[in-house]
Amino acid sequence: MDCLFCKMVNREIEPDVVHEDEHVLAFRDIKPQAPTHVLIVPKKHIATLNDIDADDLALVGRLQYTAAQLARKFGFADDGYRVVMNCNEQGGQTVYHIHMHLMGGRRFTWPAG
Ligand code: 5GP
Ligand code: ZN
Repeated sequence: MDCLFCKMVNREIEPDVVHEDEHVLAFRDIKPQAPTHVLIVPKKHIATLNDIDADDLALVGRLQYTAAQLARKFGFADDGYRVVMNCNEQGGQTVYHIHMHLMGGRRFTWPAG
């Protein structure tokens, strides 16, 4: 399958990995938007948030759990951080394999920024 993040999961492309377990891979974003910017992806290919089915609920929870664990590891859990999941074109999705952005190490604004 011609999917960038599946290629990373399969190590056809070698990402800068910060966490890996049976179900999840986390690696540094190539174009970081914060001092720490990590992408947390399920090893299972799911194209968009709309394609999550009932069997995937634990997997999706694991993405969020991993984000919190990594925030602790990187030392910004208490200061705060941002997680983002983009869906489809208007949501800003560019890679069609679901992923959670974990960003930390700076102050974020809301809305946007
Ligand atoms: P999206 O826009 O789909 O929510 O996020 C895709 C993310 O993947 C972007 O933040 C982009 O910088 C990142 N990205 C795109 N290509 C690569 C790559 O080859 N390697 C890594 N590590 N990140 C990538
Ligand atoms: Zn994929």
